[in-house]
This record gives sequence, structure tokens and C-alpha cells, in this order.
Amino acid sequence: MTGLGWSKLVLLVLVGTALAPRAGADRETPPGRDPKQPVDEAYTERIHKYTTEPYFTSPLVDYLPASKTVPTPQAVLGDVAGAPGILPYAEDVYRYMRLLEKATPRVKVFSIGKTEEGREMIAVAVSSEENLKNLEENRARLAKLADPRAIKLDDAEADKLVGEAVPIYYITGTIHSPETGAPTALMELAYRLAVDESPYIKEIRDGTITLITPVVEVDGRDRMVDVYKWHLAHPKQFYPWLVYWGKYVAHDNNRDAMGVTLRLTENVLHTYVGWKAQVLHDLHESVPYLYDNTIGDEPYNAWIDPILADEWQVIGWNNVAAMTKFGMPGVFAHGDFDTWSPGYLMFIAALHNGISRLYETFGNGGADTEERTLQPEQYARTWYRQNPPLPKVLWSQRDNNNYEETGLLTSLHFFTENKQRFLKNFYLKAKRSTMKPSEEGPAAYVLPADDPRPALQAELLQVLERQAVEISRATSAFSVTLPAKKPKEPAKEKDRKEEKSPPPAPTTREFPAGSYIIRMDQPYSRIADALLDHQYWSPDDPQKTPYDDTGWTFGELYHVQVARVTDSKVLDVPMDRVREVHARGGVKGEGTLFAIANRAEPALATLRYKLHDASIEAAEEPFESAGKKFNRGSFLVRNRSRGDLDRAAAELGVQVTALTAPPEVKTHPVRAARIALVHTWLSTQTEGWWRLALDKLAIPYAYLSTQAIAKISDLNGKYDVILFPPVGYNAGVDAVVNGIPTAWGNPLPWKNTPETPNLVGKNDATDDLRPGLGWDGVAHLQEFVERGGVLLTAMDTSSLALSLGFADGVSTQNANKMKIVGSVVEMRLVDDASPIAYGYEEKGAAYCDNGPILSLSSIAGQRGRRRLGPEMRARPTGRGSVDDPDFAVGRPGMEAPEERKSEIWESPPVSDEQKRNGFRVIPPPRRPRVIFRYADSKDLLVSGLIEGGDEIAQHPAVVDAPSGKGHVVLFSINPVYRGETWGTYAMVLNAILNFDSLNAGRKDAAE
Ligand SMILES: [Zn+2]
Repeated sequence: MTGLGWSKLVLLVLVGTALAPRAGADRETPPGRDPKQPVDEAYTERIHKYTTEPYFTSPLVDYLPASKTVPTPQAVLGDVAGAPGILPYAEDVYRYMRLLEKATPRVKVFSIGKTEEGREMIAVAVSSEENLKNLEENRARLAKLADPRAIKLDDAEADKLVGEAVPIYYITGTIHSPETGAPTALMELAYRLAVDESPYIKEIRDGTITLITPVVEVDGRDRMVDVYKWHLAHPKQFYPWLVYWGKYVAHDNNRDAMGVTLRLTENVLHTYVGWKAQVLHDLHESVPYLYDNTIGDEPYNAWIDPILADEWQVIGWNNVAAMTKFGMPGVFAHGDFDTWSPGYLMFIAALHNGISRLYETFGNGGADTEERTLQPEQYARTWYRQNPPLPKVLWSQRDNNNYEETGLLTSLHFFTENKQRFLKNFYLKAKRSTMKPSEEGPAAYVLPADDPRPALQAELLQVLERQAVEISRATSAFSVTLPAKKPKEPAKEKDRKEEKSPPPAPTTREFPAGSYIIRMDQPYSRIADALLDHQYWSPDDPQKTPYDDTGWTFGELYHVQVARVTDSKVLDVPMDRVREVHARGGVKGEGTLFAIANRAEPALATLRYKLHDASIEAAEEPFESAGKKFNRGSFLVRNRSRGDLDRAAAELGVQVTALTAPPEVKTHPVRAARIALVHTWLSTQTEGWWRLALDKLAIPYAYLSTQAIAKISDLNGKYDVILFPPVGYNAGVDAVVNGIPTAWGNPLPWKNTPETPNLVGKNDATDDLRPGLGWDGVAHLQEFVERGGVLLTAMDTSSLALSLGFADGVSTQNANKMKIVGSVVEMRLVDDASPIAYGYEEKGAAYCDNGPILSLSSIAGQRGRRRLGPEMRARPTGRGSVDDPDFAVGRPGMEAPEERKSEIWESPPVSDEQKRNGFRVIPPPRRPRVIFRYADSKDLLVSGLIEGGDEIAQHPAVVDAPSGKGHVVLFSINPVYRGETWGTYAMVLNAILNFDSLNAGRKDAAE
């Protein structure tokens, strides 16, 4: 209090108050209703009734302002938002939003696309009448801030636009279908924003455009409402779990923001980018009572602008502060979510120069009011959670709605108060993205025109297109300087001293005309950089429990060449913008026989199924014809007109060469196998990514549950190949075979009834979710293989097949210390003559999530080898040197038979001792065949986290195990995952197309 007398201070306070009559001493508009506006008494009364404790609400939502013209959510719900027993379908929510649109010029509804099952998605804009009238002018202003090249990076011009533009805050609800509260909260929020005349809400309405997608996972929402209605109709019974959410995936619908393979991701991305929104705020409900995970925990994604990291803190802590003042317990930020993976829906904003936000509020998975008991770690007071949730409470959907709305309204108000700051940041982030080449780099990524996999290259570029990244194409050849590669540290001190090679020099690389250039001087350079760069998660990172995948490098996972170029000369290369990437395909040359090189491109499988009556053969050896080299596995197509083939090949980006004479090479037929894809009723998500891939490739398949398998006694009569993708859910023999216990409880039906019209959609149905594969199903699968079928498994289903004894000579082992958390690993090709390997190279990347660790043995029933510590192969103490034999005094020496060595991925040779009465020795033609193995420990990591990788290094990654007349093809990697692993799809497709020739090129051990 020095230098300022009392009277002056009093005067200042008085003047301050006088200048801001509606504000407190710090000029903040107080939250709460406008006493002059009447309240909807009946509605308000029920808000209070359904709120279980007085501290589970706030002055922002403990009343509803009345309107003579605008209907409240009651018009559609029949009760207030969050009322017990009421969950609206998406179309009811939309109907209400459209009623609002009719009743007030402050609401506009936009259709933003359809789901996989054809349901509509919407975005609702709520703002002042004037703001909504001027949407286009405003969009033009925001577009200039979003792309600062439009104003030549002129900061003064940007400031002018910042002063004039109205920012856009985009809220998305219920992407996770069992998290049910958001739609009603967002209905009421829209009403409040449109109707409430309190200064607090009016400031939001005048200052910001609130954009709302009330239901993101529309297909899943409608199923969830069905399940809830079933539950209400059968109150004393257990109810089915939500086994399908969307058509393909469940919880992983919030892991699609990299590949953008689901319609919901694409629709939200288009809306976010199209509206030039500043915030994308996604609502979830799995943590009591409001966890703002915007701040999260470390490590932060390495490609975000640090300005965003600051914004996360500022907004998140403000949110906690505002709600703490309301006395609402259990509101916190920080916590155990790390902000590394960009796969979350909200991350669309983070890597498109906006602000990503996410709430976890507390939901009951339906609209019942229930007693909820928390775990000690949930109600513990921590430094970031000073007013923690209570150990046990009665909790209602209304409570949840109160938290969601209060959080959103305080956020919207804070955002509006600081809108110039956030708009300026929006501009700055875009500007800094545009200046990336001259700041942190790189200058560009280049995808060379001579990549042997043009169709896969196009798939990868189409991901970038969906991400709104600008793609260019060089009109002439060019070269760039690549930085010198650091040599890998030699493992031993000894080797280091002996190495005298000169330090590596920078190299140049030539790229042909037509190469694709992803310039980094564009506003959305960060998303391209994040997808194409490599990731490194240190095993020493303080964060020991990564929240999701740690690596995702798209070029590696697509098996497509991507060059990271730091040489800024690349930006001067003459180039054109590409509007639509499409690989060039079609027939060239003369002749009636057609050859297609096999480069492990999934498009080949599509072509096989498309030309179902063509005769197609695969070459078992490389050959040359028409002056071209064709690798092993290349297709030879007969019986199709050139025109048909040309059209199909052009559409698929497949290059075909016409030949005048058939090449002299051994071939076998490539058939369009009849495929069954098996799912459990435990979880359909991980297999859902496989369905998505097959559908995208237009490869037909029958979709069968384990229960159906149990009922089909002659599987071979219907199918050639059975795919049994990973289950997740810790699915071992017990869970998959026995299912959920049926000895008690009631059947849990999953089928369409008048009560539940949406459950099945385009998927599968059952009278009772609980029964599993059963021992009949096990027997049917085993018979299927014995009689010549191909069973293909991955990760946990590989372990399952081995536990059930489907294949001799392969076993799985548990890891001791290994930690590979959704990482990109390197594999090596072991058997290039196997049809499964057709088109692959010596090295290739794959997605791995902790194995399983597979090992081979030549002895039935014996566990395979693994490397644990140094091998004891050294000679014993005695005469001579380390390489000499010892001697025994008093008798002539005898040379020990040489021990046959084998690699860790191989079946160990059979020893003389094992051959004695060797009834367990697996005959060589029946031994498993390793197609791919994991790379050596030092080469294993491509992207992400690997700790203790030597436990799996060199072990088999893909094994073809003969069994009876058929095969079990076992994957330790997951070859089909989240639309991100296009490079390994062909391993599965090769197994499918060559199902009756998998033994091609097989070389058996002599004994
Ligand atoms: Zn969620």
C-alpha cells in the first residue's frame, strides 16, 4: 500500500465500478440469471428435483429462462434435459434443434454428412441474429486468419481482422455411445444460448458462434437408446452390453483422427476446417465429475505449436477456477491422460491450428439415477484436485448435464472475454505453420514418382487430402541435399576403436518429375508433419503408462517411400497443386495375356475379386517379359478382354503389361477365396477395423459370430479362408470358448425388435450374447483346417489357436519386461518364396502391441526357444586356446560332432538324442514356416516405444503352420489396424488369394 493513499484507492474503485456498471470490481460479468427475465417455473422446479445435491449445480444452470416463442427441450423430451428415464434418439435431438431454428433467428441447423448406416449428422450454430446473418462475411475473415498467405502474413491486417471477426467454438457430443448425457445437455445449452438475456450469456451470444454437433456417433447413439429402452422395459433383468457402437468400431471411433477412415471423423473434420473454427471441444463421460483433460499429462505431442500448450493451461485452469468458485466438487484438470497421440477426434483442432479440448464428466451409461461408489484414487485429494469427488453419492443424468453445461458455459464465456487473444493465436499458429520451412523445418516431404507402390502411395496421399493438406506435384526432375546420416553406435567398445571410416557427408537425392511434394509452408503443415515424421518415446520417460499408441509413422506403415527434406531449395521446384490424387493404372503393350507386377498392393486383391471370372495365376519365380522384370507373385491374367481389364486397372491404379507369349515360369492359380470373418460377442472393435479394410477394398466375406461357427458342421463346404482377427478383451480360451456364464442371469438378446429397431444395423444378431465358440465351435474350426481350410489369426487369436493345439511346433511365451505400446517395428523377410510374402521386400515396418512372442520347435509339444541372457556355448577350462579342444590324459582325443546352429526364428534342427524313438519329432513337411520375423534388437524400433525389445527381436512375426491338409497362419503383429497399416494388408490378402497354394516354394529341412 505504498505510494497510493486510501482516498485515491477508493476513488479508483468507484470509477472502475462506474465505468463497468454490470461488472464486479475486476470487471468480470457475474454468472447468473437476469432478474428482469421471467423463469420457466415448472422446468426450473424439475431441474432442482432431479439434481441430487445442491452443490451439483451452479448459478448458470439452476434455472431456465422462459420464452413465449422458443420451445424448451421439454417439447421433444416430454420432461427436462437430464430427466431420469429419458434418452432421446438422434432424430429427436435433431427435431428439437430444428424447432429452435424455426422459433428463433439465433439458431441455424446444418447437415454435415451421413454415417456408414446412412444416418444424418448435424451442426447447430447458435449466436446473435446478426452474427448468423453475416456467417459468410465472417467466414471470409476467419479464412484469412486461417490461411495467412491470403494477407501476405501481414500482422497489421491480421489485427484488423481479429478486431472484426467472430470466433467459432465447436462442441461435439456423445462420440462414445455408452456416454449418454451430452445430447440433452447440448439441447438445453442451445436453448440457453438462444434465449437467456442475462449479461453473462448475452456476452457469449454476441461475441462467439457456438457450433454444436450434439451426436457424433449417430449409429451408436441409436443402438444405445435401444439398449436403454430394453432395460426400462425389463427392469429386473440384466441388459445387453453395447457390443456394436458404429458399424465398424466402438471406442476406437475416437482414435481415427489420423487415418480419417470413419465417416464421423471426416464429417467433423470438414466442419471444423470448413467453418475455420478456433476450438474443438469433445464431450466424454468416464471420470467423476468433470475432468478437463485438455491439459492432460506429458509427453505432449511433439508437433503441436507451443502456443497451443499455453492455451490448454490457460483455458483448463480457468475452467477449474470458475467451477471451484461455484462450490462444485470434483472439477479438475491435469491427470493421467497424455497428449502424445494425435488420434483423438479433438486433435483435429490441435493439428489444424485450433484448440483441442476434452471433458470427461460422470455418466451412468443411461438415464437412471444411481448410487455410485468411487475408488480411493478417484476421490483422493491431489495437488491438481483440491476439491475431489465424494466417495459415494446418488448421481443423476441431470447432475451430469449440470456439470457439462456449466463447464461449457464458463468456457464459452472465458473464451469470449478473451476472443481477440484466441483469434490472434489462431492466426499466429497458422502463420507459424506457414513459416515452418524457415523456422524448425522440414521444408517438405517428398513422395517419389518412381515409388514401386503407386496405389499405396495414392492411399497415403488421400489421407493427407482428407486432412485438408495441400499436395503438389513436381513438373520436372529435381534434386535436394539430404543431411548426413549419423552412423549407428557400434555395440562394443572394441569395434568403435577399430572403425576408421570418415565422417559421413551429406548426400543428394534425385527425384523424378511427377514426384509429390508436401510443402511445409502451408497452414496445415503440422498435421502432415505429425503423420509423416518418426516418433520416439523414451523408455526412460517419466510417463510409464502411455495412454494410447506411441508410434504411427504413416510412410512406414503404408510401405511407401517418404523423404523428409530439410533443404529449402525443394520449395523452388516447379510444381502444380494436385486437387485429387489418383494412381495411374491401365494396360500397356500388345498381347492377349496380361502381367501385373506384385508389389504387395491391396488393389491387386480388389482386382482379383472384381474380375471374378478371369483366370489369374501367380508366378512362383521372378521372370522377364516384354523387356520388363516381374517379381515373384506377379499376376498373369487370361480370359478377360483388354477393355475390361483396362477399365478395372485404371480405376484401381494398377499397371498392367500385355504380353504376346506366356513366360516360362511355374505358376499356380490365384483364386477369389470364399472368406468368413469371425467375431466374438465379447467385443467387435478390433475386428471392425478388418471389416472396414475389406469393405474399402470391395472384398466380399461372410460375417460370422463364434456362435455361428459352433452351428456350422461343414465349414469347408462354405469357406476357403476363415479370418479370426484379434478380439481384445484379454480374450483367452475361457472367454472365447465359454463366453459369458449362462448358469445364472437372463439371456441378453442382440436383435431387432419393435422395442430395439436399431441394434443390428448392417451387422450381426443373436438371441443371447453370452455363449461363446463352445467346444463344438473349436472342433469345427479344427476340422476346417484339417480338411484343407486356411485359418488366419492375429495377436490374441494366434495365442488362442496355439492354446487350443491347432498347430504343431509353434508356442507363445509371456514377456518378462518387454513393453511395446502400439509401436511401429521393423520386420525382416525370412521366406521370400512363400505366397504370403509376395511383393514384399527384405525389410518392412509393421504395427506391434506387445506381441505375442512366438517360438518354433521341431518337437511336438515342446516350447520353443527364446533368448534369455548370454548363451553358455563357451568351451570349458582346460588346455590350449579358446578355439582348441581340451584333452583327456591317457586316451586319444575325439572330435565332438559339430552342433548344428540355427537362428532364433527357425525351427531348431533335430538332435541325435531327439531322434531316438523320435515319435514327437515333427516331420519336416509339417513344420511351421516362418515368413517374416522381427528385426534384430538394434533395428527393431521404427517409431514409438520399445523397452526390452530383445525379448521379441528375431522371433517369428508371421508364421504359416501346416495342419492336416490346411494351414493356420499366425500373426504376432496386427496387420490390419485403424486404417493405418495399409502396408501389411497384403500379407493377409496374399494368404487369402493363395489359400490353396500356400506351400508354394516351401523348402523342407532334410530331417
Ligand atoms: Zn469417452
